Amino acid sequence: SCCTIKRYCSSRHQSSMKAVIALGANIGEPKENLDLAIALLREATDVHLVSSYYTTAPVGGPEQPDYINAVCIIDSALPAMDLLSLLHGIEKSLGRERVEHWGPRTIDLDILMINDIVIDTPTLTIPHPQLHNRRFALLPLHEIAPALHHPVLNKTIHELLLNCLDTLDVQKK
Ligand code: ATP
Ligand code: CA
Ligand code: CA
Repeated sequence: SCCTIKRYCSSRHQSSMKAVIALGANIGEPKENLDLAIALLREATDVHLVSSYYTTAPVGGPEQPDYINAVCIIDSALPAMDLLSLLHGIEKSLGRERVEHWGPRTIDLDILMINDIVIDTPTLTIPHPQLHNRRFALLPLHEIAPALHHPVLNKTIHELLLNCLDTLDVQKK
């Protein structure tokens, strides 16, 4: 019936939403925190690709240990705000406390992109507004999806990395 087709189409559409998630941690056991966060993501979404882990110097904020950063690509039917809530829930279950902006954290999970979706609200901006300025996000994303298209800047991740002026030391583990 028409209804069945509609449901089929909308679920097909939703399940094909690819989201790029950035992971970062620099206190506790950062590598284990990333492993755990990915395990929790797998419980709620389809994790397709995970980049290598990278060691990066911290940007801004107080003096703090180096970060471990990675990105992953997930397939999820969740609306963007629900995905953000899921990430906040995972951050909470890994013991993140929001004390100081840009301060050290057990885990930080950001949405970098969701397909070609553009969102600009006080609580959620997609693509992530700093993606193109951050080597620690671009380098791991380049490893797994260099041809991915940025819907606002209209460039591929490869092009964004070539144009990125960030000189931060980002080392593949
Ligand atoms: P930055 O955004 O510069 O990476 P941060 O990750 O340290 O900084 P947080 O304190 O983790 O910042 O998050 C602050 C708020 O940012 C979140 O509560 C969330 O509402 C908002 N936010 C906006 N866009 C996004 C996004 N694309 N992914 C995750 N959070 C976002
Ligand atoms: Ca962040
Ligand atoms: Ca964040």
